[in-house]
Amino acid sequence: MEIFKTKSALKAFLQPLKATGKKIALVPTMGALHNGHISLISLAQKNADIIICSIFVNPTQFTDPKDLEKYPRPIEHDLAMLIEAGCHGVFMPNVEEMYPQGGDENWHIDLGKAEFLLEGAFRKGHYQGVTQIVKKLFDAVEPDVAMFGQKDFQQVLMIKNMLAHFNLPITIITCPIIREDDGLAMSSRNIHLSAVDRKNSLVLSKSLQFVIDHFDENSIVELEEKAKLFYEGISGVELDYFTIANGNTLEPATSKDENQLVALVAAKVGSTRLIDNMIIDKVEVVG
Ligand code: AMP
Repeated sequence: MEIFKTKSALKAFLQPLKATGKKIALVPTMGALHNGHISLISLAQKNADIIICSIFVNPTQFTDPKDLEKYPRPIEHDLAMLIEAGCHGVFMPNVEEMYPQGGDENWHIDLGKAEFLLEGAFRKGHYQGVTQIVKKLFDAVEPDVAMFGQKDFQQVLMIKNMLAHFNLPITIITCPIIREDDGLAMSSRNIHLSAVDRKNSLVLSKSLQFVIDHFDENSIVELEEKAKLFYEGISGVELDYFTIANGNTLEPATSKDENQLVALVAAKVGSTRLIDNMIIDKVEVVG
């Protein structure tokens, strides 16, 4: 596996491959890799010839400097996982390489109303930072396809809006959420959970699964109310939101007939903020 620290070295590697018609996939990550990330690499291998994973902890998407500081960076472990997964190249630039002018470069694009909902309401400017770095990574790699996890449901929507804004010819592939055996969605942040937090963290997937399992017998309001009850009385867990939303707009769902419905949750477990979601597959009644 090749390791690139500069855009120019990466481009020099990719250029001859592109010239021979090889399809390039980009898997953007912030490192501290787990099997969720590796599932993106595997899916990329089914959709492209050359797989580039980027590892970059992007400062402009962090609202809390402490969160940025304590973000895990086990680089040797990450490289070993990527080699094992058969990744062709890893792009791991430093901050100066991605932000040569320093600061946030006054990036601002219109991402639509959904930018300010859910995660956007709790993490001001987060999606400007996310789309800013993903645009830079897209410019560096010029991939045919890019892989993103459904785990960050709102992020995928924002990336698609950014793509439309710049009219970029890149196919976005959304990959399913990989979970631990007990249901917790894998996340680089899970290592911060204490033993008690780890037990408590199951409330996220359990409350989402409740909605999936009981969708047919309850109204949307009832489902949300009952799901929120899961969080009552668990000390050390603080719910930020639990919502059933329209998957295209992220506005609260008003009817069960809406096209794509998704249940989304964010909660602080101990000092770690976790997010999770489940798409609601409605049974189509035909005839
Ligand atoms: P991150 O390193 O957390 O920025 O994540 C990099 C990519 O991996 C994003 O597209 C995430 O949505 C995706 N991802 C993170 N956790 C999971 C998971 N448990 N299952 C599938 N994809 C994931």
